[in-house]
Amino acid sequence: MNVEEKKENQIPLVDLQAQYRSIREEIDAAIRGVLDRAGFVGGEPVRRFEARFAAFCEAKFAVGVGNGTDALFLALRALGVGRGDEVVVPAFTFIATSEAVTATGARPVFADVQRDTANLDPEAFSAAITPRTKAVIPVHLYGRPANMNRIQEVAERHGIAVVEDAAQAHGARYDGRRVGSIGTMACFSFYPGKNLGAYGDAGAVVSNDEGLAKKVRMLRDHGRTEKYLHEMEGYNSRLDTLQAAILDVKLRHLEEWNIKREQAAARYRDLLADMEGVRMLSPAAAGEHVYHLFVVCVKNRDQVLRGLADQGIAAGVHYPIPLHLQPAYARFGHKAGEFPASEQLASEVLSLPMYPELEIVQQERVVDALRESCG
Ligand SMILES: *Cc1c(COP(=O)(O)O)cnc(C)c1O
Repeated sequence: MNVEEKKENQIPLVDLQAQYRSIREEIDAAIRGVLDRAGFVGGEPVRRFEARFAAFCEAKFAVGVGNGTDALFLALRALGVGRGDEVVVPAFTFIATSEAVTATGARPVFADVQRDTANLDPEAFSAAITPRTKAVIPVHLYGRPANMNRIQEVAERHGIAVVEDAAQAHGARYDGRRVGSIGTMACFSFYPGKNLGAYGDAGAVVSNDEGLAKKVRMLRDHGRTEKYLHEMEGYNSRLDTLQAAILDVKLRHLEEWNIKREQAAARYRDLLADMEGVRMLSPAAAGEHVYHLFVVCVKNRDQVLRGLADQGIAAGVHYPIPLHLQPAYARFGHKAGEFPASEQLASEVLSLPMYPELEIVQQERVVDALRESCG
């Protein structure tokens, strides 16, 4: 095989080039429109995307910000979370979830997830509550909504705000409602590889609470209400105009892309049914899970990763070390064994190639390679 053929045969984890090819004209026109008008921060494209994204989430307000981590940070700041407060976060997630808490001066308190969904265990959340707990951040990990009914119920009983980390779940539904419209506030990332991805960094905070949305709007732009009138000190974390114009184009395709992800996931489930040595996470009802990632659990992960790589298949591990065992959090003194489900998932999870353009022949190759390397 020559180099070109070899590249042809690779199956990536995500394929952003294939996506761009499918919407090139629309994207190029949107970018040119912004360049022609030469307004690069704020303006109509940002307002339009915010309105459309709020509507998509079936929520009242969306505020565009610089990235998903800032979305979480600004949401917590708007809620008044700060020094002396605690915020419960799952021990098994991307570190941005807890970084946002620390950035406010508050302390992230880890709680275990459920082994079959990889989402926050509501009972573990309940057990982690103290008089200092101000908020909880359920993460809709891999695109599957967390158990929001039970989490909301516990949070309400204790007067705790619920901030959804929906960075991986644009368009997912829970009990018929779109994620982003369920908690007190919800935070989205538009990092390029997410289900709705910009061509750079971007994020948004979504809420039905007008006061909180207004607060985030101020905080993201130097605390101002007029050009040089500052109600408070804020930050510079705005959604830039080019990204808003790009996201507005892509939002029109998101529903269709999510359906294709779900179809690809259903095909994986069929192909993997009864495969020895592979455990799938529990499925969700139709329309609920938007499969940002398709994750399976295997015991011999290093061997499987090598086997897939040998066949030109890119797999990922999201995430190999749970937060409580990260060197960054050594100061909390956690020990291995404290959060068994998080630890088991961290040692077994494997993300298979997943994107809307993924074809069945590619999936068959992935599954064949998996079968070979699992045995
Ligand atoms: C991507 C991601 C974030 C952070 O988003 P950025 O835009 O990269 O800052 C936060 N939480 C989760 C679960 C994510 O996957």
